[in-house]
Amino acid sequence: MMETTALEIELSDELEAMRDAVRNFVRKELGPWAQEIDKTGEIPDGLFELMQKNGYCGMRLPTEYGGGGLSLFQYCIALEEFSRLHRAFTIAANYSSGMTPMAITRHGTPEQKEKYLRGFAQGKLKSGFALTEPEAGSDPAGMRTRAEKRGDKWVLNGRKHYISGGHVADVIMVMAVTDPEKRARGGITAFLLDRGTPGFTVTRVDTTIATDAIKLAELTFEDCELPASAVVGEVGAGFKVAMRSLNDGRLSVSCSCVGAAESLLDMATEHSKNRRTFGKLLAERQAIQWMLADSAMEIAAARALAYDTLRRLEAGKDVASAGSMCKLFCSEMVGRVVDRVVQIHGGMGVIRGFPVERFYRDVRHYRVGEGASEIQRIVIARDLLRGIKITD
Ligand SMILES: Cc1cc2nc3c(=O)[nH]c(=O)nc-3n(C[C@H](O)[C@H](O)[C@H](O)COP(=O)(O)OP(=O)(O)OC[C@H]3O[C@@H](n4cnc5c(N)ncnc54)[C@H](O)[C@@H]3O)c2cc1C
Repeated sequence: MMETTALEIELSDELEAMRDAVRNFVRKELGPWAQEIDKTGEIPDGLFELMQKNGYCGMRLPTEYGGGGLSLFQYCIALEEFSRLHRAFTIAANYSSGMTPMAITRHGTPEQKEKYLRGFAQGKLKSGFALTEPEAGSDPAGMRTRAEKRGDKWVLNGRKHYISGGHVADVIMVMAVTDPEKRARGGITAFLLDRGTPGFTVTRVDTTIATDAIKLAELTFEDCELPASAVVGEVGAGFKVAMRSLNDGRLSVSCSCVGAAESLLDMATEHSKNRRTFGKLLAERQAIQWMLADSAMEIAAARALAYDTLRRLEAGKDVASAGSMCKLFCSEMVGRVVDRVVQIHGGMGVIRGFPVERFYRDVRHYRVGEGASEIQRIVIARDLLRGIKITD
């Protein structure tokens, strides 16, 4: 771990204690699991058991359902610690505390909460979140998946893709058009879909450039019947439910980027103190020092932005545009940091099986998922240019 305090930010005693507890858990328990994940490309069931035993399943869920009752800020700090070691741990945490479990917590009926939340907290259920479609990624309001009311049932038809963990999820929140005239303005509804529901098939599973533990599923719905009780929140409120979830997602991605970047800087600092070229340590070269310094500065700035936004969110402020700034800055920051860190490691930085190389592939996702960089820039600019009519 870094010896400098320059990257730290004053935390409350409570947050600091929580961060230290997660940090210890990661250091003491998760190393062998990271190796197994790299070997098999899967997140093993045993990891969920270990996480559950230590209170890391359902971290954000209400305590009355067995959850940890953490705030978004606390959860983000936990993800920052997980992502120092391996991206897969943040995926595992999100299965039980990510967008769908939190949408159920916020908007679900008492029956939905009873049915799902305990299962998440017990590490028995995994969730998925299905918004993106082949024809509707950055512009999800253009989605084609349709849910029509027939009698007291909803009938789902369409296709989603790039759904993280969609192939293993026990329950997936699926956004579908219920009123084609209204679309994002009251015509999209969120539904809870259980694995095994007739008419629902996982039709493809994609792996990506990142760790194989991340798999993106294509989901197909053919006359898939859902009961009226599957609706999350109000009929027609699904777009708002999804956007509210994505706001949280952007902040948790931001902190995951900070954790990964700090871990990478640790590796580069250590390497530069040990590797000699032309009779001198890399650490003695100004070119290397500048890469380390720039990385440290950017990590400190990213963390300050993310924590400040989380604090303002906790104080009830509107942080939609600030959340986009965090996601944009932190995801681009870790891209720059990892590139420098690969460079500092030379050949070792690109050898398969060496952590730097895996981080290099893993962090590339962050500039695409949960709203790509360009979309975050659009959100920020629209906020600045309020009052000007922007048509596209
Ligand atoms: C690792 C990963 C996990 C994911 N997990 C999920 C998940 O669990 N659930 C889910 O629903 N989705 C998920 N996604 C999908 C993700 O949300 C989409 O990939 C993303 O929103 C971009 O959509 P797209 O891929 O269709 O790209 P496109 O929308 O086709 O965009 C392509 C490029 O054009 C840019 N662009 C688009 N519109 C504009 C514009 N108006 N101006 C300027 N540039 C523009 C984009 O920024 C992007 O760079 C995941 C994606 C990844 C990579």
